[in-house]
Amino acid sequence: MTTQVKHYIDGEFTTGKGERVITVTNPANNLPIAEVRCASDDEVHGAIASAKAAFQSWKEVPVSERARVMLRYQALLKEHHDELATILAKETGKTFEDAKGDVWRGIEVAEHACNIASLLMGETVENVARKIDTYSYTQPLGVCAGITPFNFPAMIPLWMFPLAIACGNTFVLKPSEQDPMTPQRLAELFEQAGAPKGVLQVVHGDKSAVDILLTHPDIKAISFVGSVGVGQYVYKTGTDNLKRVQAFAGAKNHCVIMPDANKQQVINNLVGASVGAAGQRCMAISVAVFVGAAKEWIPELKEALAKVRPGLWDDKEAGYGPLISPAAKARVLKLIAQGKAEGAECLLDGSDFTVAGYESGNWVGPTMFDKVTTDMSIYKEEIFGPVLCCMEVDELEDAIELVNKSPYGNGTSIFTASGAAARKYQHEIEVGQVGINVPIPVPLPFFSFTGWKGSFYGDQHAYGKQAIRFFTETKTITCRWFEDDIPHGPNMTIALR
Ligand code: NAD
Repeated sequence: MTTQVKHYIDGEFTTGKGERVITVTNPANNLPIAEVRCASDDEVHGAIASAKAAFQSWKEVPVSERARVMLRYQALLKEHHDELATILAKETGKTFEDAKGDVWRGIEVAEHACNIASLLMGETVENVARKIDTYSYTQPLGVCAGITPFNFPAMIPLWMFPLAIACGNTFVLKPSEQDPMTPQRLAELFEQAGAPKGVLQVVHGDKSAVDILLTHPDIKAISFVGSVGVGQYVYKTGTDNLKRVQAFAGAKNHCVIMPDANKQQVINNLVGASVGAAGQRCMAISVAVFVGAAKEWIPELKEALAKVRPGLWDDKEAGYGPLISPAAKARVLKLIAQGKAEGAECLLDGSDFTVAGYESGNWVGPTMFDKVTTDMSIYKEEIFGPVLCCMEVDELEDAIELVNKSPYGNGTSIFTASGAAARKYQHEIEVGQVGINVPIPVPLPFFSFTGWKGSFYGDQHAYGKQAIRFFTETKTITCRWFEDDIPHGPNMTIALR
């Protein structure tokens, strides 16, 4: 019998009552591994109502008790780390090592949530006027919602609900329908950590569930991660419905390679950053910009990329796994064909790659283009596959101009031995996350994940201090205690005296 993925509604794990049934498949051969019956509209409404009821008591739970739930949760996540990575690898096709990285980067955010009391601290100034003090508190918003993509089914839900809930909110998570088993396990462990009934809800489904979350009056804030088109839709619809929204969207990340960089470091780092996880990372390097003589390293980079072999999740020699779905593969193949047709030089073509015994899987081998120009589809569109586009420019200034013209601004990196070049790049580049000799600069949770431009809609970003601001309101109190000996007539102004 096929495994049934469970929703987590009002403290119960249930199979769902919606009409639509989605099959979860093994991306290595597209055979079914589980199915999920989408939540009915009534179930989504029920989850929101249960989260609203739970908020009334959860917001009164002392912050140290909320922190203790997070302490138990991060310990359970660590205890079940490899089990979670195995579930994740099987449903995404990621290699086991990469799946462990996905889980670990999520655990780091849950760890960060254990420090919630310090993170929530407000501000105080004594004597803002005579005998008057002003202080501020952070208070939770109510029911918050998260809508997550397929490519990090552990990390991205964990970016959201532990911090939101530690702040005193309750949370409805709508994970990607393509890999819902990992989020289900995250919810089971959260319950085991002692989270009270209703504090976390998980509803599986597609656009119809998302639309309820975007328009429901009891949802106060929406955190979304996914593609550009859906991100814009979520941001517009959510804000039109007067919600606080943060929407992390697609990307096209450039790595600039200066001729004074360490060649072997550049090659090693570019290989992993471009085709690792089959290029299905929002921070993957999809464009390598070679400055001046650095272009002479392109043939060696091609040789290194050609050695990467995709394979099954438990194949220790595999560099990465299959793409998530046949549709994702078809999209990548179409873009590779367009790249060739539009005149890019295809140095390495992974279109025909397959794995023996798994011919029906969503495989694409490492692919590399040179002489890519900004008018080509492979430059303009997010490919989200193991495809690296190479471009050549004369000077660092040309590279900066090129990157700044991109409509995206998620991540970028520069490889150089020059502090002056690195300083100029970090200062002038219009991208929210910059790596200097670090190819994928995803910040740890005490900072925030700060994509810019078309890669992010909203103002407060994920985790770090910005997430605390996103998931709370600030209440500012101005306070005076009268003493008998202070005479007071009417104060007819708004000045404090
Ligand atoms: P997606 O946009 O297809 O799906 C994301 C979520 O939105 C899923 O839960 C899905 O069910 C829901 N959804 C899909 N279509 C919808 C619609 N029409 N209306 C309402 N909801 C809808 O994204 P994906 O393919 O799962 O994920 C890959 C994308 O996510 C890539 O573009 C990648 O760059 C992006 N991403 C961005 C970041 C970031 O931090 N900027 C991080 C990870 C992934």
